[in-house]
Amino acid sequence: MFTKIKFLTFSFNILHFKNELLNYRESRKVISADKINPNCWKIFMKTFSLNKEKAKALIFDIDLTLYDNLDYYNSQERLVMEKLAHELKRSCDEVIAEVVKLRDDAQRHQGRRPTLGGTIARHYGFDIREIVRWREELFEPEQYLEKDQELHDTLAELSGRYMIAAVTNNPVSIARRTLNALDIERFFQPVIGLDCTYTPKPSMIPYNMVMQDLGIHAENVIAIGDRYEVDLELPVKYGMGGILIEALDEVRQLNIFL
Ligand SMILES: [Mg+2]
Repeated sequence: MFTKIKFLTFSFNILHFKNELLNYRESRKVISADKINPNCWKIFMKTFSLNKEKAKALIFDIDLTLYDNLDYYNSQERLVMEKLAHELKRSCDEVIAEVVKLRDDAQRHQGRRPTLGGTIARHYGFDIREIVRWREELFEPEQYLEKDQELHDTLAELSGRYMIAAVTNNPVSIARRTLNALDIERFFQPVIGLDCTYTPKPSMIPYNMVMQDLGIHAENVIAIGDRYEVDLELPVKYGMGGILIEALDEVRQLNIFL
């Protein structure tokens, strides 16, 4: 009996959400009705401690959250490792294999994959400021990224209802160039990069900077990113809501969900 009631309640919620979504879409005309299956999307969206009523700001990760161009993402790691090999005066293949092994081993022993910058700083003794400079000099987001009209329209709509910020482990200049290449830079204020704190995610320091800048508290924030351990685990622990992005389409349709 109890199971039956639960099932009926569940079914009612699905129907209710479907109607709500269709009405919402009709009123905003942002997404055509055939773009998504609202039932599946709602059910599988991975959220953590979400309190939409209190939310005033969205803090986005950038890489593989606001674009899904793997060529650009992979170029970042490759360029940094090539630069590392050059600085160490060793062969590129050898250094790449060594760094991959270091990160794999750390993941096995500690249960989480360390960042590339953190691995290089710890194992090879480079200052994090120097690694930031490498990134500023080497990365070319404009070569890989272009305007995504649907993403642009979604962020334009969300920016009317929320303050929108970005926290990234890239330097601010690269973050702004990345957002600019996607033609969404104007929606983000502030953009906190590695050169603001020299403390890469996962850390609350860059998130605290955003909250201070915007004059809000953790309960007013939803953190959004593609890596739970890096982008969401600490923010959620300290009172923010979290949304885990597993496909760019989820960001493109975020205005319906929020
Ligand atoms: Mg990311």
